[in-house]
Amino acid sequence: MDFQNTLEYAQQLDQADELRAYRDAFNFPKIDGKQVIYFTGNSLGLQPKNTQHYIDEVMTDWAELAVEGHFHAEKPWWDYHERLAAPLAKVVGAKKEEVSVMNTLTVNLHFLMVSFYRPTAKRFKIICEEKAFPSDQYMFQSQVKFHGLNPEEVIVEVQKREGEHSWRTADILEKINEVGDELALVLIGGVNYYNGQVFDMETITEAAKSVGAKVGWDLAHAVGNIDLQLHDWGVDFAAWCSYKYMNSGPGNASGIFVHEKYLNRKDVPRFEGWWGTKKETRFLMKPEFEPMHNADAWQVSNPPVLSLAPYLASLKMFEEVGMEALITKREKLTAYLEFILQEVERYTKGKFEIITPKDRGCQLSVFLHGYGKPLFNFLMKNGVVVDWREPNVIRLAPAPFYCSYEDMYRFGCILEEGIHQN
Ligand SMILES: *Cc1c(COP(=O)(O)O)cnc(C)c1O
Repeated sequence: MDFQNTLEYAQQLDQADELRAYRDAFNFPKIDGKQVIYFTGNSLGLQPKNTQHYIDEVMTDWAELAVEGHFHAEKPWWDYHERLAAPLAKVVGAKKEEVSVMNTLTVNLHFLMVSFYRPTAKRFKIICEEKAFPSDQYMFQSQVKFHGLNPEEVIVEVQKREGEHSWRTADILEKINEVGDELALVLIGGVNYYNGQVFDMETITEAAKSVGAKVGWDLAHAVGNIDLQLHDWGVDFAAWCSYKYMNSGPGNASGIFVHEKYLNRKDVPRFEGWWGTKKETRFLMKPEFEPMHNADAWQVSNPPVLSLAPYLASLKMFEEVGMEALITKREKLTAYLEFILQEVERYTKGKFEIITPKDRGCQLSVFLHGYGKPLFNFLMKNGVVVDWREPNVIRLAPAPFYCSYEDMYRFGCILEEGIHQN
């Protein structure tokens, strides 16, 4: 595409953008009275303005109805979570029975490992990517030790090749075949948090299954960002948080996916609690556990309604817009950001390097050779909110829901000035 590095051109792209009205549906922080350029939607999405209404509704019901709110609130609390399943299923490419919302991400990965990591003397190894998100690494190690095994003998990390910044699918497939009938589980972050790479989930899932392993995906950076078809790809399970591209607030509830073939099965173990039992008979308080027929069987406790309210507010917007439109804008907006970076690079003579491969979502990770913290501080002071990783990587995620082409243009100007000054 022939982009131009001018304000008029960026504004023209904004004029033609079908999603432009949504920018006003979010609250932006301000620096020196000016709305920031927000690149950290991959870490904490902005607050949709309708969130307040959804929270107020629960607060009012609680004040006016107290315990009666469980069944008589406008949106009764006892099955509040069920309202999230259908719109969320569309975001991840699942049937609504396959999706539930509960707990937080790492907690849910632990719960799902109980069901899907069942090591035997022969089949016990786990394949993941090298330098997985730290929480995932701790989760793996503690799960392996919980089973009385040694993480060093169990966890197989797929490496990037020397001098390369991303993983090759071929290397992952080779590792899967090499581990073969010792392989119990493949669990990778669908979009890598550091370099922004999108893994070929369909191909990797198929390969892992062909050697008899289970496959799970951590979709923290994938959900609300890229196209997902979890059901059709035959993924066994997945989990994600809701506070990154899903804009549902700090530390908020996590979603899970369990493929329908594991629903209504007695041979799939689980850690259970009363909210996983059949709703029709739940309050008979019977001693035996009768599971819900859907992924809610993995629910343990009664739902955190005040957390689910902002998630529901956000999902209403995703439902209205649809992933297809978001992805279309995301591709163009990220391409425009890439173009702007290349323009700035012309002045800085190769001091930049985009380490995100072509298989990408929203995020571009950029090495700034020779520039350090002062440049980052300059950007923040000038109203550009970016994420900095030592020693000198910035991660830029222009979320299509609320970032504009003009933001990208203005960022380029500020970056260029910062490079001259630092
Ligand atoms: C953000 C993120 C997490 C965060 O986990 P929480 O349990 O929500 O704190 C975990 N894994 C990955 C890959 C992430 O990107």
